Amino acid sequence: MPVAPKGAIILAIARGFCILLIGAGMAQGLVFDIKRFSIHDGPGIRTTVFFKGCPLACRWCHNPESQSSLQELILRPNRCIRCGACLSACPHGATFREDDEYRVKPAKCQLCGTCVEVCYAEAREIVGRSMTVAEVMEQVERDVAFYDQSGGGVTFSGGEPLAQPEFLQAAVQAARERGIHTAVDTCGYAPWPVLEALRPYVDLFLYDLKLMDDEEHRRFTGVSNGPVLENLRALSGAGQAIVLRVPVIPGVNDGPENLRALAAFAASLPHLQGIDLLPYHPTAVEKYERLNRAYSLAALRPPGPEEVAQIAQVLGRPGVPVRIGG
Ligand code: SF4
Ligand code: SF4
Repeated sequence: MPVAPKGAIILAIARGFCILLIGAGMAQGLVFDIKRFSIHDGPGIRTTVFFKGCPLACRWCHNPESQSSLQELILRPNRCIRCGACLSACPHGATFREDDEYRVKPAKCQLCGTCVEVCYAEAREIVGRSMTVAEVMEQVERDVAFYDQSGGGVTFSGGEPLAQPEFLQAAVQAARERGIHTAVDTCGYAPWPVLEALRPYVDLFLYDLKLMDDEEHRRFTGVSNGPVLENLRALSGAGQAIVLRVPVIPGVNDGPENLRALAAFAASLPHLQGIDLLPYHPTAVEKYERLNRAYSLAALRPPGPEEVAQIAQVLGRPGVPVRIGG
């Protein structure tokens, strides 16, 4: 599919996905964080731009604030000093007091940010900032000297960056025009035309691979792995540089059947540059509490180093190094 010309609007419908592609000149997206000096999101020193919104709902997601494609107000009751400033400042009657806690009625909250401004304890935060590509690039370009020295660049992550295709396309092209190495960290769940248009401007895909059984994939992520595997095959067949990223979730995807299938699939991919194993860690529990969401894997413990080393042996092969961590 051709890249959308400036100002053009293209409606792409494929495999049940429906996307509106808007020309690069208008591209604006929702970002929930920009992290500088990252060393786990691709080669060298990088700036990682985290897009907000994801079509998957992985039960182990360690960035639950990235899942919704809308802005969200999050509360940190442990920081609240009970000053009541948010209650009197809220112009929409959304904040209320109950059991000595200052809470919010989601149906009334307009995300105006007034309560965040008056909360000096920083117990409230609006997650998700609408940014233009120029604003993103202004931050990315600050560290060009470090990228040049270390072989780094910019990584677009999420959430799921492919879920904001026109914004991602424009941002990746802007980085390329400035000679900055580009990586896209993706779950791969998107219509192929989105990846096909993006591909020429991406130096490296960091591609998540979780579960090979479709039913299990649906059970733990909410969607089929069909498009994920098809897109991965197509990218690899097109000669794209890819590093697979495999989360290691005890009791979910660390069984021998899944690992054997994953190893066989990985072995069928030409141009695979490596495999990163990402052992589960429970640091997200507090984030789910802040968002007032249930976390079904709260009792899960991280895998031991021996188990991770064994998985590395199963997945590794000559020319395809397995790294533990990103
Ligand atoms: S303004 Fe902040 S610190 Fe004060 S009551 Fe509201 S949430 Fe708590
Ligand atoms: S973001 Fe605005 S509407 Fe929502 S609780 Fe805060 S002040 Fe009220």
